[in-house]
Amino acid sequence: MIAGATGPGGGLGGGPLGRPFRSSRTIGFRLATWYSLALILTSVTLFGLTYLFMSSALQARDREDIRAELRELAALYEAGGLERVAELLTLQARTGTSEPFLIRLTGPGDAPPLLWKPDDWVDIDLRRIQAMARVPSGQWSDLRARDNEGRSFEVTALRLPDGSLLEVGGSTEGRDRVLGRFRQAAAWVLIPIAVLGFSGGVLLANRALQPIRRIVQTVRAIEGGSIDARVPTHRTGDELDELSTLFNSMLERISFLIRGMRSALDNVAHDLRTPIARIRGVAEIALRSDDSADDARQALAECVDESDQLLTMLNTLMDISEAESGALTLDVDAVNLAELVEGAADLYRHVAEEKGVALSTRAASELWVAADRTRLRQVLANLLDNAIKYTPAGGRIEVTAEQDRDRVVVRVADTGIGMTPDELPRIWERLYRGDQSRSQRGLGLGLSLVRAVVEAHRGRIEVSSVAGGGSVFTVVLPLPAATIA
Ligand code: ADP
Repeated sequence: MIAGATGPGGGLGGGPLGRPFRSSRTIGFRLATWYSLALILTSVTLFGLTYLFMSSALQARDREDIRAELRELAALYEAGGLERVAELLTLQARTGTSEPFLIRLTGPGDAPPLLWKPDDWVDIDLRRIQAMARVPSGQWSDLRARDNEGRSFEVTALRLPDGSLLEVGGSTEGRDRVLGRFRQAAAWVLIPIAVLGFSGGVLLANRALQPIRRIVQTVRAIEGGSIDARVPTHRTGDELDELSTLFNSMLERISFLIRGMRSALDNVAHDLRTPIARIRGVAEIALRSDDSADDARQALAECVDESDQLLTMLNTLMDISEAESGALTLDVDAVNLAELVEGAADLYRHVAEEKGVALSTRAASELWVAADRTRLRQVLANLLDNAIKYTPAGGRIEVTAEQDRDRVVVRVADTGIGMTPDELPRIWERLYRGDQSRSQRGLGLGLSLVRAVVEAHRGRIEVSSVAGGGSVFTVVLPLPAATIA
């Protein structure tokens, strides 16, 4: 959980998660704006397409009506000439059954054209209609005659067999009204869509960015000194949740390293005090006494020994820190672990024999791993050294190395003093020494170094032990990918 979520920096302004955006520069605001813009654009496109479709469907219907009228009048003209047409139109006008069409018939001669219009088009400006350019036969006029009410017409024409031109026009008023209403409705619908789109965008962006805000809060909290602050995760499995989890594990790792460094520093300070005090004591006594030059040399030799031990301790501590932080440079090469095990055992066989401990090995002839030869030798030497140190005379030590699927397993088993369950987790700590081991030489750094080096090789080390019944240290190293069958 987040501890002290708002540090001295003051959080996100206006409460942790309460206020979605600080300003128009935030990603949240930009996301919301883009989201609503996209929604508005989609809606406008949809409305636009529907409008176009509607308008062309209505236009097609209107034009079909005009064409039908044109065909009917043309047939009438062919059957009975101008008289029949005039007769029908006059009859329609008289009986009030006029079709809502504008009709103009221009004869082949110079006679003025004949014009009919529905009665209810009282305000129509006849002069403008008269002067309207002739529509070429079979085509539609784009020139729209507007009457005083702003009514517009579209006109088509047909050249009759005797050379006359019959033009029929229909009002577009009906469809203009429908389309006008549609435009109005669209404008009214677009406003709530824009509002909804923006609020939806704000909501979505707010939700989506919450994990990021939590990370920011955590960073602020850490900045403010709460190094234990962590980002709450919700196991949703999405990318931001994964980021939070990774961020937390990174923080864990950093805290682990910081804790390790702190405790190492404490331990080092504590453990340096004794040898330094000893060096000082020896040097002081030598200075004060009037002893011979031999005694003084003896004191100096003691100081050199103590200083060497101090140097070893400091070097090992630095190696451990480097290995744990990943800064240790490994000189990786193809290493035959079986050969390395035999070599290490040969080196320690003499010491083991002197102590009365039997040391045996069992390993395949070839076990290739990609590793730093010198560092692995150090690992084996430390484990063997411990096994010999903590196994009384008459005991046995067995080192085995074998391949197990995609890894190589090395075991160092002894029949020594073993460890209690309480001790087991502590043996990996820097400078830790078991109670029973105080009588033995050592710094309490061997196993810390072993574990750090093994982990730097992407391996792991385990221990099982019974107090008084011996211990087994198991090192598992991955096989190089090319070697895996
Ligand atoms: P040390 O210098 O004390 O050997 P290590 O880090 O190598 O330091 O080991 C830490 C402690 O783990 C030892 O002090 C000892 O108590 C315990 N330990 C390590 N190896 C063995 C073993 N083979 N048998 C019993 N105890 C062991």
